[in-house]
Amino acid sequence: MLFGAKYTGFAAFFVYFDVDKGKFVCYNVGQFWVRPRERLTVTGGGSTKQPTILQDFEWYLPEDGQFWNKTAREAGRLSKLGFTSVWLPPACKGQAGIRDVGYGVYDQYDLGEFDQKGSVPTKYGTKDEYLAAVRAFHDQGMEVLADMVLNHRMGADETETVQAIRDDEHDRNIQLEQTSIRAWTKFTFPGRAGKYSDLQWDHTHFSGVDWDDSTGREAVYQLAGKSWAEKVDRENGNFDYLMGADLDMSNPDVVRELDRWGRWYLDFTGVDGFRMDAVKHIDFPFFAHWLTKLRDETGLALPTVGEYWSADTGALCEFSDRSGQVMSLFDVPLHQRFFEASEQGAAFDMSGLARDTLSERQPDLAVTFVDNHDTQPGQALQSWVREWFKPLAYAMILLRESGVPCVFYGDLYGIPHDGIGPTPGLETLLMARQKYALGRQTSYFDRPDVVGWTRSGEPDVPGSGLAAVMSGGEGGARLMCVGARHAGETFVDILGGRPERVTLDGTGSAEFPVDGGAVSVWVTEAAA
Ligand code: CA
Repeated sequence: MLFGAKYTGFAAFFVYFDVDKGKFVCYNVGQFWVRPRERLTVTGGGSTKQPTILQDFEWYLPEDGQFWNKTAREAGRLSKLGFTSVWLPPACKGQAGIRDVGYGVYDQYDLGEFDQKGSVPTKYGTKDEYLAAVRAFHDQGMEVLADMVLNHRMGADETETVQAIRDDEHDRNIQLEQTSIRAWTKFTFPGRAGKYSDLQWDHTHFSGVDWDDSTGREAVYQLAGKSWAEKVDRENGNFDYLMGADLDMSNPDVVRELDRWGRWYLDFTGVDGFRMDAVKHIDFPFFAHWLTKLRDETGLALPTVGEYWSADTGALCEFSDRSGQVMSLFDVPLHQRFFEASEQGAAFDMSGLARDTLSERQPDLAVTFVDNHDTQPGQALQSWVREWFKPLAYAMILLRESGVPCVFYGDLYGIPHDGIGPTPGLETLLMARQKYALGRQTSYFDRPDVVGWTRSGEPDVPGSGLAAVMSGGEGGARLMCVGARHAGETFVDILGGRPERVTLDGTGSAEFPVDGGAVSVWVTEAAA
């Protein structure tokens, strides 16, 4: 039972009543609450478990409006698996209605409530079913992160004839010609008829589009009198424009409406925090404004993780600084390493697996992941980590201390669309995160073939501590020290790859074996 919380400096403590022990326990969670001063990152919503996020969707879920109901029924099982936080897919009505995954946002106030774009429900269900799913996760003590798409709008109700400048697609700082275009920029939301907000969007709220309906030409059109935001990713000269009708964050009316909507969303749904979509395409300082204002107004921590899609750790750090360090970021560089390692096999230098990633350079800001809805087969950023490497990658993000891990739905449940099954051993690794992956970490990433690490365990958590060893090549063994407290203990591989028992010497060390292209996680036999 949660009793109360107190944050001081960089330490965080929870006092709770432990039914088993029959007494109040003061629990230091400072190692998990990496930014306790403001709790900017994902923390698990007050759970005493180690924070663990589930990305609760993949691209090819059935277009049947049943997902909110289905996932609500799963909430209890997901909590038991060790998840503390769930990232739900975008809940707003998209331009493709029930077929829209959610990133083609049409109406941000339609969470499956109005007959728009061909249906009342979204791909995932109705507004009431969404609210019920949020409650189902809350009932399990889990934290819900809503997917926020603020960069663009799609599927306008009407066109407008406007002046525009056609930019060079590959260098948006180069203006090619001024022209008159018919743009899909007028959003009147006739199905909603002004409920919740009477604002209708038009071309004054956007800075660019990619379609001239009068000529049928696709190009990057900057609307006349507008300029691209300067503090955005520099790919293509300036990467403010991504798709659809690009929101103009320099227009005070736009910011006012997004402020208002953010508050409405929190009050209306009760979600705890956000996953921010496409942050590299939005004026970086906007986020400092938007999140800080919402945090100040509501008094909520609003843990937030941003999608800045770049394998360049420097770009991630620059965004973080320029947006006021108001959110965690997905560790895309680490995902990229996993992808390369899984492609290259024995040729990949395993000693560099985590080198210079966000979780190494700024571990308190990193949300680690193996794959997501964009990297899965057939999607825009396809870089699917091969099946043989998945258990190794999940051992890395679940059993090491840096970063908060985010498990992909497609790895937990499989992806029937592509005949992909669940990742073997993933549920065991999730259990191991909570039960064994505690205490001081010692790394052995100094050989290209067999690498590993140990966790010493916590003295007050019986059986905790582990030795993880993995190989991208032919396998072998590593001499590693778990800690003197484990001297003489017998360890076994909970993933079952190696059948033998390993006895630790007087210093708590042993040679821990692993098969080729595999990971073994060794724990004390008494606790396995
Ligand atoms: Ca933009």
